[in-house]
Amino acid sequence: MKKIAVRNLRLCTKDCLCLYVCPTGATDTENSIIDTDKCTGCGACANACPSGAISLVPLSYPPQQKKEEKVLSRSRVQIRMKAEEEKIAEQIVAEADNDALCRLMSAVSKSARLVNEDLLRESGYMLPQSGNAHKILKELVDNPPSDDFPLETAKELLRRIPVNDSPDAEEAGKKMRKYRCKMCGHVFDAADGEAPVCPMCGASGDNVELIE
Ligand code: SF4
Ligand code: SF4
Repeated sequence: MKKIAVRNLRLCTKDCLCLYVCPTGATDTENSIIDTDKCTGCGACANACPSGAISLVPLSYPPQQKKEEKVLSRSRVQIRMKAEEEKIAEQIVAEADNDALCRLMSAVSKSARLVNEDLLRESGYMLPQSGNAHKILKELVDNPPSDDFPLETAKELLRRIPVNDSPDAEEAGKKMRKYRCKMCGHVFDAADGEAPVCPMCGASGDNVELIE
């Protein structure tokens, strides 16, 4: 799966190490945004960055993993319980007459929200590339739940991130192999069945070896 590097400008300390190590000049841009046309996804910049400001992200999202219906139905029960828990905690916060109770219930509410986010993600509702996330987002766009619902952002998500449950899922979910470049020593991934090319130095054929 092809990846590209992205830089978090808020973490970047401008020490320019990524400029020295990038073999294609993709990090050397006027606006500090990594040039995705030049980036080969070799990962050298991310390894060199002392601030953890660079991440490698897949160009296409992997398809949602299939879950057994009994797992999903159990998740739905937990999701409802956590949503209820969050609502009750928020009500107590609104009516609390002392600071300690207020802070405790705020923490309970946030904790319930975080657990619920994980449950929803695991159930496929927070993966913008999944069919069920698209369905629920489309329903919200058609009937916004409140005046402050971010309608334009939701529309943009639907437009930019297509469903990849199928048939592109097979392509996105291809098994990856690990290779080592005999020329520069770089270790990289390439999809099974595709000719591996070292993203660092461009070596291919007999100059790369399969290691996993
Ligand atoms: S991943 Fe490689 S090619 Fe892309 S910006 Fe980083 S060092 Fe340059
Ligand atoms: S190496 Fe990291 S901290 Fe340094 S300029 Fe690049 S992104 Fe910024």
